[in-house]
Amino acid sequence: MNIIIIGGGFAGCASAEMLSKLKGVNISIIEKSNFLGAGVRTFFYGGHPYTYGPRHFLTKNKETYIYLKKFLKLRNCNYHQFKSYVEEDDQFYNYPLNQSDIMNMPDFKKIKKELKNKKKISNFNNLEEFWINSIGKTLFNKVIDRYNKKMWLVDTCKKIDTFKWSPKGATIKKGSKAVYDDRISVYPRNEDGYNYYFDLIDRSKKIKKYYNSTITEFDFKNKKVRINNKKTLKYDYVINTISPDGMFKKKYGELGFIGRDLHLIVFPTQNVFPKNVFFLYYPNSEKFTRLVEYKKFTLHKSKTSLIGMEIPSKNGKFYPLPFKSEQKKAKKYFDLMPKNFYSIGRAGTYRYEVDIDDCILQSMMVFDEINQGKYSGPVVGDEFK
Ligand SMILES: Cc1cc2nc3c(=O)[nH]c(=O)nc-3n(C[C@H](O)[C@H](O)[C@H](O)COP(=O)(O)OP(=O)(O)OC[C@H]3O[C@@H](n4cnc5c(N)ncnc54)[C@H](O)[C@@H]3O)c2cc1C
Repeated sequence: MNIIIIGGGFAGCASAEMLSKLKGVNISIIEKSNFLGAGVRTFFYGGHPYTYGPRHFLTKNKETYIYLKKFLKLRNCNYHQFKSYVEEDDQFYNYPLNQSDIMNMPDFKKIKKELKNKKKISNFNNLEEFWINSIGKTLFNKVIDRYNKKMWLVDTCKKIDTFKWSPKGATIKKGSKAVYDDRISVYPRNEDGYNYYFDLIDRSKKIKKYYNSTITEFDFKNKKVRINNKKTLKYDYVINTISPDGMFKKKYGELGFIGRDLHLIVFPTQNVFPKNVFFLYYPNSEKFTRLVEYKKFTLHKSKTSLIGMEIPSKNGKFYPLPFKSEQKKAKKYFDLMPKNFYSIGRAGTYRYEVDIDDCILQSMMVFDEINQGKYSGPVVGDEFK
């Protein structure tokens, strides 16, 4: 059986690793760059290990954690705190906000009144409506509006009409770790993060890698693809992990994504953020959304500290847009996929809530289906979030 995997990020690597355990299977990964792991791969800057943005492993699903643990020694980082700085208050709060943060705000009385007067509506048309109804206009302006506008490169949060991540079942909770309390949160102990896992796949003789390669032609009828206009490969299954539009020559138009520019800055101090603070979210008018102090995850020993600053941009296809119109377009592409195609991972499913654990879970589902000769549709794992 020939299986072609498009993209060697976490989703592509996890499915390759799992499927390589099956007998009589030839696996090929087609990867545009010259390495596996994409943004989860660790590189080094001034001796400091870093990934493209934070990439800790956060999950409610124990099965995915047990899987990762087979390959990597993992260190608990569940004690992490995320902070945000609100300029108008000149204060740091927890991210997401919790009840004690609100009590410490200078305009607490006004916020309290707005929270009391919130309407009981269950259907919202957009992110702005949802948040104003949930937390009031003052808090919305302080911590949600500017952040989401820069995150999604929009001029109003009314344009964001699907927003699975934001509510996470609760808006304001008690306690400093808020919505992350019930999750396993770990990071690899190895200095080079997850690289051992990616390198295992790189070395595997059972998995053929085509680096610096893209599929230049799909022949769905004869189950063949052409790579770099040079080589033809036959397949029984294709596992796609990239934007599904290219496969169909962007017939319904290009799917929109937000990318990120990552800026790396070494500070001449052992630590920049206070103990246990890993991230700083910035809901103010500056262009960056988040700062990460890598040392907090990696425990890298140095007299200096590396900070990564993320600025949303059009550079890369990292965040599928939370717009209904785009999601409908993605569905049209999924509907075109032949029966032997899967589309998993973040860009592959066109779902921005897909994280590392979801890539593993979706790969497990695809493995089970291929192993059992079943097929439930190109996008698996709708139910797990
Ligand atoms: C900045 C940032 C921070 C994040 N932090 C976390 C975190 O802390 N914890 C967490 O769990 N998740 C985090 N995530 C999400 C998680 O890391 C991703 O969802 C996951 O790694 C996606 O893996 P993937 O394989 O679906 O896609 P990708 O990682 O995007 O991999 C796709 C691969 O396909 C390749 N490719 C692209 N186009 C082509 C083509 N035409 N032909 C061949 N190959 C191609 C790319 O080079 C890449 O290697 C973060 C995401 C981002 C963007």
